[in-house]
Amino acid sequence: MANIPKVVEKVVNHEMCTGCGLCVFECPSKAIEMSWNESGFLVPKVVGECDDNGRCLTVCPFNPVPEEGVKTEDELAEKFLAEDIHHHAKVGKYKGIYAGYANEYRLSSSSGGLATYVCSELLEQGYVDHILSVKESQSEGRYYEYAVSSSKKEIAASSKTRYYPVTLGTIFSELDKLEGKVAIVGVACFVKAIRLSQYKNPVLKEKIPFLIGIICGGLKSRFYTEYLAQKAGASHGFQQPQYRIKNVETSAGDYSFGCDDVKTHAHKTIRMKTVGDMWGTGLFKSNACDFCDDVTCELADISLGDAWIKPYHLDGKGTNLVITRSHFADGLMVQGIQQGKLSLENLNIESLLLSQKGSFNHRHTGLSFRMRSAQKNGVMVAPKRFDQEKVSFDFKIVQKLRMNTRKKSLVLWEKYSNASIFDEKMSFPLKKLKLATAFYHYKKAALNKLKLNRPQ
Ligand SMILES: Cc1cc2nc3c(=O)[nH]c(=O)nc-3n(C[C@H](O)[C@H](O)[C@H](O)COP(=O)(O)OP(=O)(O)OC[C@H]3O[C@@H](n4cnc5c(N)ncnc54)[C@H](O)[C@@H]3O)c2cc1C
Repeated sequence: MANIPKVVEKVVNHEMCTGCGLCVFECPSKAIEMSWNESGFLVPKVVGECDDNGRCLTVCPFNPVPEEGVKTEDELAEKFLAEDIHHHAKVGKYKGIYAGYANEYRLSSSSGGLATYVCSELLEQGYVDHILSVKESQSEGRYYEYAVSSSKKEIAASSKTRYYPVTLGTIFSELDKLEGKVAIVGVACFVKAIRLSQYKNPVLKEKIPFLIGIICGGLKSRFYTEYLAQKAGASHGFQQPQYRIKNVETSAGDYSFGCDDVKTHAHKTIRMKTVGDMWGTGLFKSNACDFCDDVTCELADISLGDAWIKPYHLDGKGTNLVITRSHFADGLMVQGIQQGKLSLENLNIESLLLSQKGSFNHRHTGLSFRMRSAQKNGVMVAPKRFDQEKVSFDFKIVQKLRMNTRKKSLVLWEKYSNASIFDEKMSFPLKKLKLATAFYHYKKAALNKLKLNRPQ
């Protein structure tokens, strides 16, 4: 029997893959290619003879047996980011922290438009010649995919967040054909895979001098989009899903999902507030995301997210959270402010931590419990930095219920693909999770109050 590619044996078969596809690029025998799995994620599939050299695994961000020196984000940051910048255990290396927006791109973007601004400036200033980012797909059966932009006009078409599976699997192999340098936009696990690949192939460090990190709270299955399209009322199939339609009259969190009904061409929308919590519940999320401890995309040159804190989140036009991790990236921000292109203000580290509080709590505080559960089931988990945190009994219950809702949501959609049946069958597990979460928060607040009232 042919050898099973190591990445499939040790990662994909244990549901630890987020579909970055760098293994496809590294595979010398072209034994794997990216394909949809039964849960609506893009993962490597075996299509040829494997020569068993295991190179595919060395660039995998979820490799359970990584080489010494590149085991964690901290170790990789030492190799790729500047020495003379700050470091925080939860945030990684950083030079500056800001909140704000890009004046030109704010309204046409998902948050404050910084991602589009940075890409555009990198091209305009000639720092790179091309950008790899996520755009509308030209391929059959996909809505969005990674594509190349080489001009400011092209980059504008890649604005907006797409909660949809994408991969670098095919396009990364085409890098050679692009003349000049390339910057890549990606979430934390994709950026880690690129860094591992640059570590293996130093020539890629020259080729890709800048990485734009998108802070990510978890990758969604294709099912997430299908569910939302049905909820919005696109009953004949849909096209052009849009995930973050702003309501500039209200707040940043009050955004809508929208799409076009294939038959009637009617534009259908639904306010996400009416759908319920899609993030804290883990619905339609990749299992591997529960084993990622990189909340702020620590290996990018610049990390961009949403400023989910007062007063910024009260502004429906959208505000970015910005973390610069290189002198050049920080210089870009300072220059943008001086030229009047960026409206940014400095943020302190406490505000940054607060703005991603839920993600830190889940990904750092709850991680050790999820790791032990996976290990009990025979899964080898990649080395993690927050694997010794003490998890309270009530938070363990929340974790268990979250793991259950995540898994159940994928199984149910695979089976029924019907939003009404899905809502009915998810109702009880979601209620249980809501109750357990409310109790956990209540107890935590009460304990904090007790601590505050205790004489010092
Ligand atoms: C799956 C996912 C989860 C996220 N979770 C969080 C979170 O928990 N907390 C938080 O603060 N922010 C999160 N974000 C980031 C946030 O939604 C914005 O993308 C970010 O703030 C940048 O906004 P912007 O206005 O600067 O981007 P824009 O100027 O609108 O540009 C968007 C950029 O993101 C790229 N992009 C779109 N979809 C993807 C994708 N699937 N993978 C990689 N790149 C993509 C586009 O190519 C473009 O370059 C998440 C984003 C994604 C894709």
